Order: sequence, then structure tokens, then C-alpha cells
Amino acid sequence: MLKMELDEDLQNIAHENYEFKNWAKTFSCHPELLFTPKTELQVVKVVQLAKRMNKRIKVFGSGHSPSDLACTTEFLVNIDHMDGLLSVNKEKGRVTVQAGMSLHKLHVVLKENNLALSNLGSISDQSVAGVMATASHGTGAHFGCLSTLIVDMTMVTADGDMVTCSSSEHTELFNAAKCNLGCLGIVTRVTLQTEPAFRLEAIQRPYKFPDVLNDWDATIHSAEHVRVWWYPHTDDCVVWRANRTDKPKTIDLQTMTNTATSWWCERVLGFHIYQGLLNLTRYQPAVIPTLTQFMFNKVHSRPLHVVDDSHKIFNFDCLFPQYVNEWAIDWDDAPAALRQLDRFIKENNLKVHFPVEIRFVDQDDIWLSPAYGRKTCYIGVIMYR
Ligand SMILES: Cc1cc2nc3c(=O)[nH]c(=O)nc-3n(C[C@H](O)[C@H](O)[C@H](O)COP(=O)(O)OP(=O)(O)OC[C@H]3O[C@@H](n4cnc5c(N)ncnc54)[C@H](O)[C@@H]3O)c2cc1C
Repeated sequence: MLKMELDEDLQNIAHENYEFKNWAKTFSCHPELLFTPKTELQVVKVVQLAKRMNKRIKVFGSGHSPSDLACTTEFLVNIDHMDGLLSVNKEKGRVTVQAGMSLHKLHVVLKENNLALSNLGSISDQSVAGVMATASHGTGAHFGCLSTLIVDMTMVTADGDMVTCSSSEHTELFNAAKCNLGCLGIVTRVTLQTEPAFRLEAIQRPYKFPDVLNDWDATIHSAEHVRVWWYPHTDDCVVWRANRTDKPKTIDLQTMTNTATSWWCERVLGFHIYQGLLNLTRYQPAVIPTLTQFMFNKVHSRPLHVVDDSHKIFNFDCLFPQYVNEWAIDWDDAPAALRQLDRFIKENNLKVHFPVEIRFVDQDDIWLSPAYGRKTCYIGVIMYR
């Protein structure tokens, strides 16, 4: 279908010859047309057009999913222009936003209202709709995935109808839509439960991985938010713990300006030099275990102690484009799975990158959520590209 065949309103938001690529550049597609609506009415018009023309629609947010979920050769929709704050209920700590808002913008909006998200994943580049569509998660034994923060959501369904669902309205749709993988419609607005803005104190220390696996339950509950980074090819790991605090901020995490040593370790060695060395290991993979041990000894074994606004502590620099896969399993089964993974790497003489990231999420009742009905351990494995 050609753009010139559309009415003027749709022509203004339609784009031809667009190539979609996800953040890691592992998947791409050429949709027939990309639509970038600015209003809910335009979203409805796009869906009605697709229905008339018998076209499939996919929608994407910031393209950070390490999958081809958003790929299509037919109609692609992006609602980045729909990123406004719609209302704030300070008494209940609830905000309603347009679902194209990025998490970065959401943090600013929440801070202006002295509010914050209770938990967060490693980055804030994603859209609110994208994070919720995949039940994205952070870590914390008593914290569910981010979709558990949804109070209500509005979407344009395949019929072109606008439907608002919540725990008391269209309940079944709500249970399905909180983790919808973009399959149930185009989500246009979301109301989120937040909490009063808070600071986190994060402490990061090196441990022996077998000790952590042997002391599993105590590790999971050793702070409000706990994550473990294991360094394959070694028996070393780092445990990161964060708790709410009234202590003053220690450093500005964004610039790492506290000391020249930390700047050297984090930015120069931990990023630029590491990237160069990783490139070399493409030709000499056998060096990867030595590189991992070197990086652990020089950069990651240093104890770290910081206090800052919650979202700055939750977020991390995820370094370079990467292949990712992440498994969600019952957290009681995780030590056995991780020991087996270690054996598998050794027995097959695999050369893999660090870290393997291990996080904990409370159970929920969202139909497609990996944490449905069970306390879940996420084991994330990356290979830098
Ligand atoms: C560096 C990096 C770090 C990450 N860290 C974490 C982490 O810590 N924890 C975690 O759980 N995940 C993490 N992720 C994964 C990421 O949070 C999810 O893939 C998330 O879905 C990406 O959001 P997005 O806005 O980029 O959505 P996209 O990747 O664009 O789309 C993802 C899904 O959302 C759907 N979608 C997007 N917008 C809408 C809409 N308006 N209506 C309906 N459906 C929609 C799409 O159709 C698709 O199914 C990370 C990814 C990267 C690249």
C-alpha cells in the first residue's frame, strides 16, 4: 500500500521505506508502512485502516527487546510522540501517562511530583508500554515484575475499539494485557502505582560463587534488592545489595566524578580498554577466561558503596550491543541450574563472556508473566557482539 493512497491525516503520520532495527541490531524488518500517531484518534484510524485492508499490525517502543517481537513486513506503529503526563494522584501515589513515554522521562515526571517507581531494570531507555508488554523486571525478593505496578491501562484493540481495563473492569483482558507481547492491541495509556521518592544505598562486594550458591536463601533475602554477577570460567562473583536510606547522596553516578581512580577503572578500563580486548578475543577466544579473571581482579572486585536517587542506583551501563538470553526458573532450583551451567561450559570447552546476571522477582498473577505463581530467579546470559 502506498502513502499517497491514504487520507491527509494518515499521510502526515505514515512513512515509507523505513527499516526497523532493534537496539542490539540482531533483528530488523522493512514494514510496508510505518505509522507514528500523535493522538489516540489517529491510533484508532490506523487500526481501522489495517482492518479494512486486512493488514497485520505490530507496534514497537524503543526497540530494546532482544527479539523479533516487533518485526513485520506489513504495518508497523510507534507511539513515541504520545509521551505526555495525563494526571497525578499524589494521595494514592498514582500517575497516568501516555504509554509512549520513556522511562527516562517518567523518572523526571515522577521526581517533580516527589514520586518514584518501586523497582526498575538495568536501563531506562525503554517505553512504558514496551516494559509492561514484556513484564520487564528488576530485582528484589518482595518486588514483582514492573507490570505488577499497573493499576489500569487503555488500549486500541484489533476492532479499533478503545478499551480501559483494570482489576475491576474487563478483568480478564487486564490479566492478559499486563504482559501482552504486543499481541492484544496498541496500549495508549497506563496508570502506575508508585511510591514516595527515595534514595538507595548500594553496596557491592566480591564473593566466592560456590559460597553464595550454598547460602542461597540468605543471599536472596540479604537486602531489599539483591543481584549476583557471576564471572564464568572463575569461581568469583559480585553481590550487589541495595536498601532504601535517608543517608545523603555520595556521588553522581552519571559522571562518576568522585575520584580519578574510579573514573579510570569504570570508564577507561571497564569500557574502552575492555571493548578493545573483547575485539581481540574474536580472533583468540581461548584468551576469554584470562580476560575475565583480569577484569574481575582489576575492576569488579573493588568494593563499591554509593547512595543516590533510586533510579540511578537501579540502572547500569549495559556496555555494548549484545546477544541476550534470560531464563526464568523457580528460585529454589537456581543453585542446581547454575552449577550445571558451570559444568556445561567446562565440559563443552565454551568461551563465554561475563557476567551471568542473577536476579530475584516475587511471584505475580499475570497470565503470561514468567513469574506467574512462583518466586522466580532470572538467569541472564549475554555475549557481546
Ligand atoms: C541493554 C538492555 C537492558 C535491558 N535490561 C532489562 C532488565 O533489566 N530487565 C528486563 O526485564 N528487561 C530488560 N531489557 C529488555 C527490555 O526491557 C524489554 O525488551 C522491553 O520490552 C523493551 O521495551 P521497548 O520500549 O524497547 O519495547 P520494544 O522492544 O520496542 O517492544 C517490546 C514489546 O513491547 C510491545 N510494545 C511496545 N509498545 C507497545 C504498545 N504501545 N502497545 C502494545 N505493545 C507494545 C512490542 O510489540 C513488543 O512485543 C533490557 C534490554 C536491553 C537492550
